[in-house]
Parts: sequence; C-alpha cells; structure tokens
Amino acid sequence: MHADDEQQRAADEATFREANERIREVQAELELSRQLVPFLCECDDTSCHEPILLGAEEYERVRSDGTCFVIVAGHSTLGEIVEEAAGHAIVRKTGLGGLVAAERDPREEGRWPTSRRAESG
Ligand SMILES: [Zn+2]
Repeated sequence: MHADDEQQRAADEATFREANERIREVQAELELSRQLVPFLCECDDTSCHEPILLGAEEYERVRSDGTCFVIVAGHSTLGEIVEEAAGHAIVRKTGLGGLVAAERDPREEGRWPTSRRAESG
C-alpha cells in the first residue's frame, strides 16, 4: 500500500462522512430521532452509494470517534473492524488513514456542542 494512496482513500471516505453529517443535520431538524435514517456507506469505493439504516444514537456513537467510519458489511476499507452488526460494520482507521480521518473530523468544528461536552468531561 502506497502512503499517498492510503491518504487519498481516507480523504475520499471523509467526504462521505461529511455528506452523512448533512443527513444527520436534516434528521435532527425534522426530529426523526426515533426512526432509522439512510446514511451513506463510507467504504473506499467512491462510486458506492449504498444506504445504511441507522438510528440517531447509533450514528452518534460512530461519530463520537473521529477515526471511525460505518460501511455496508463486506465492503472494502482500510482499518480494523471494531464492531459488526446486521448489515453494516464500524471500522476504525489506523496509521496514516487514521491521521487523515481525525484531521477531517467534522465534529471538531464544534457544530455538535453537546457531544463534545460529553467527551471533555
Ligand atoms: Zn460501500
């Protein structure tokens, strides 16, 4: 694996994560918190737009770690699978990919003050 390639893949996946943040905002605005919402698969195939149905709480749990991504079960991505559920998996980026993912963590912009407050204790 070439380092540039790993960085590029992580950056591509961060773009999908940013799209999912928009979906999450709409979900919050519409107060759909008890319903399952179709987030986008964040695997390393940029042509993949498969939906993953997640509740607000589960999505927030993934997003609370800036190096974690959610993918359709069996899709390809770099990193270690930290959790497998029905139909999807949660993957933690390691190495260079993890650095890129953490750098581009959309939650670092403070748009979700409640989740940040919980982390800082
Ligand atoms: Zn995918």
